Amino acid sequence: EDEVHIIGSVLDLREKTIASVMTPIEDVFTLPIDAVLDRKTVDKMLTAGYSRIPIHAVDNPTQYIGMLLVKQLIAYDADDELPISRFHLSTLPEAASDTSCLDILNFFQEGKSHMALVIDVNNQKSSSIGVITLEDVIESLIGEEIVDE
Ligand code: ADP
Repeated sequence: EDEVHIIGSVLDLREKTIASVMTPIEDVFTLPIDAVLDRKTVDKMLTAGYSRIPIHAVDNPTQYIGMLLVKQLIAYDADDELPISRFHLSTLPEAASDTSCLDILNFFQEGKSHMALVIDVNNQKSSSIGVITLEDVIESLIGEEIVDE
């Protein structure tokens, strides 16, 4: 019974778009490139609990520059109060909102990034409407929330 369910879900991956399983942009924890990583901001970041933080332009929260991998901060001293611009940012690839979950799974498997910015294809301004990670695709595959340890 589980096997039938799993095979059915795998076939669904072809039909499901990433827009239907992404995290909507208004729920995404992001920071501007000029944010200073002082104790308050680092605390907020750690409380949010995400391992990747999309970084946007100073006066334009719709223009993304890259992403900060939180693991880089393991040895960081918040008293140094460095701006995010002093840290290495990883590439945040863009994916069209009508990309299938199967295609994004193949992209994630290439290993260059495990997060992508979802771009609205129904809008000429190519606005970002969410983020998608491997976990979103796996969740749609097994049809249940994955509870982090
Ligand atoms: P993490 O490693 O940070 O827990 P996952 O890749 O396991 O992230 O994704 C878990 C869920 O959190 C997914 O639904 C994903 O879309 C969402 N997510 C990832 N990063 C962020 C973020 N910065 N803000 C909001 N949601 C996020």
